[in-house]
Amino acid sequence: MKPIIELTEVSFAYDIGPPALEHVSLAVAEGEFLGLVGPNGGGKSTLLKIVLGLLNPASGEVRVAGETPQAARIMIGYVPQYARFARDFPISVEETVLLGRLGTTRLLGGYGMADREVARRAMAETEVLELRRRPLGTLSGGQVQRVLVARALACDPRILILDEPTANIDLRGETEIFDLLKLLNRRMTIVVVSHDIGFISRYVTRVACLNRTLLCHQPVPIGLEVIERLYGMPVQRIPHGDACAMERKP
Ligand code: ADP
Ligand code: MG
Repeated sequence: MKPIIELTEVSFAYDIGPPALEHVSLAVAEGEFLGLVGPNGGGKSTLLKIVLGLLNPASGEVRVAGETPQAARIMIGYVPQYARFARDFPISVEETVLLGRLGTTRLLGGYGMADREVARRAMAETEVLELRRRPLGTLSGGQVQRVLVARALACDPRILILDEPTANIDLRGETEIFDLLKLLNRRMTIVVVSHDIGFISRYVTRVACLNRTLLCHQPVPIGLEVIERLYGMPVQRIPHGDACAMERKP
């Protein structure tokens, strides 16, 4: 079967600084739940933006469902890293989720019944329906992330891509998000960036490790040696609920 996401020998550099990605090859099969991990600055967000067609590789090839990333953009729901917004910007949960319909719907005359129905379903699935009239700025971090997942679902995607969706939320919020992703994985391919390799190992079907050049693929569970090779430093497991996280050894 053709992979749904396929990168072949992809390299990329920003205008300044060293290359962010060098000769990265990765194939994601339809239905996978892939965790993308690696050190800060390892190129994870850059890789996702290339898959989304927001950045073009300097060399190499990218195919999403057999098409260019730009052509396939409509199939992908995206939750960006640090989705910052002005806390006092007067937008409600429902309006935020409806933004996910942009690019899918014709906006002449505003959102239609079908748009509102898709948004309602997305909010129900992410359990934010009761919050729909609330201004986004009044929600907790975990609630905001669920709203952003609902927005990503509102384009009815085949692939869901999330960039550190749980970076600033507590373990309970993190567990809720990943339980939700597990359910969504029944009908869509998921790629999620996370720092917390121990935590995500309980959920994902495979971990890909990215450090600019090195990309190793590893079915879970993932061993300490692999993590140390990836991070280039000794690491230890630290208690983290019933899961574990990795921390640099002093
Ligand atoms: P990660 O998401 O793994 O932390 P990024 O993809 O954000 O890594 O960044 C990879 C490298 O590219 C880093 O060295 C970072 O400093 C650099 N970089 C990221 N965004 C830009 C940008 N807009 N302009 C210049 N350099 C950037
Ligand atoms: Mg990043």
